[in-house]
Amino acid sequence: MPVPRIDLHTHSTASDGTTTPDELVREARAAGLDVVALTDHDTTAGVPAAAATLPVGLTLVSGAEISCVHEGVSLHLLAYLFDPDEPHLAAALDELRSSRVGRAERMARRLEEAGTGVTWERVRTLATGTVGRPHVAQALVEQGHVGSVDEAFRDDWIGTHGRFWEPKPELDVLRCIELVAGAGGVTVFAHPAAVTRGRTVDAAAVAAMAEAGLAGLEVDHVDHDDRARRCLRGLAAELGLLVTGSSDFHGSNKEIPLGAHTTAPEVWAALAVRATGAQVLTG
Ligand code: AMP
Ligand code: ZN
Ligand code: FE
Ligand code: FE
Repeated sequence: MPVPRIDLHTHSTASDGTTTPDELVREARAAGLDVVALTDHDTTAGVPAAAATLPVGLTLVSGAEISCVHEGVSLHLLAYLFDPDEPHLAAALDELRSSRVGRAERMARRLEEAGTGVTWERVRTLATGTVGRPHVAQALVEQGHVGSVDEAFRDDWIGTHGRFWEPKPELDVLRCIELVAGAGGVTVFAHPAAVTRGRTVDAAAVAAMAEAGLAGLEVDHVDHDDRARRCLRGLAAELGLLVTGSSDFHGSNKEIPLGAHTTAPEVWAALAVRATGAQVLTG
């Protein structure tokens, strides 16, 4: 039997992907995936629509990619199979999403004042779910200032600490790991060594996260070169963490296709067995 293909990190129009949740599950099956996790930024809002149109043979894992911080360094935490109605986690996610709106508005208004033609009204329309910089980037593409969403992430536009960048509200990562566990979910540190996105945390921080209950590290990711992957595999072995791989698919907002990197079936099984907050959904 062929090895199941498992992609544990994707984005839909419920955040800053360009594929609707129902298109995403269809595309995932067409791409030969057996298991796909929907992990929109700070929300599980896309899960019901994905579940409603789940193709036969595809398993859907509910999740979110949560905006976190550790000692001043921004990082992303993948949370799987938590109960979306658990009130403490739900309130924290709600707060993250609503403060993102104010932050996106500040970036858009500054761009508007600079005469770029970008407006908050346009950005707000482009965002059909959790608003993020890729929506601002799309508005910059529309106005002809940059050729692609990727190009807008340069320092002269909305790159981290760039000219029109505004900081984002974030949750303390150790608290977030505990909140997700309290909602019956499991956590994996997303792209821990993605240097192109700014500062990354050190091994001591990952050890503290492991101590708090982190289950794994996302090692096979487009933003990691071979050296970073070797290093992370070593750290995972040392700390007893699982190792995952995933595409971090964003539709046409990024070039990476679904299933570009995958997670081993035994790793997925070990994650699933630790989660009690939500059921996996099978089409
Ligand atoms: P935000 O969470 O609003 O700060 O926006 C960050 C999001 O933008 C992340 O989901 C990234 O996937 C995406 N992103 C970061 N850097 C780039 C880039 N260079 N090109 C395209 N998307 C990016
Ligand atoms: Zn994103
Ligand atoms: Fe991320
Ligand atoms: Fe992501």
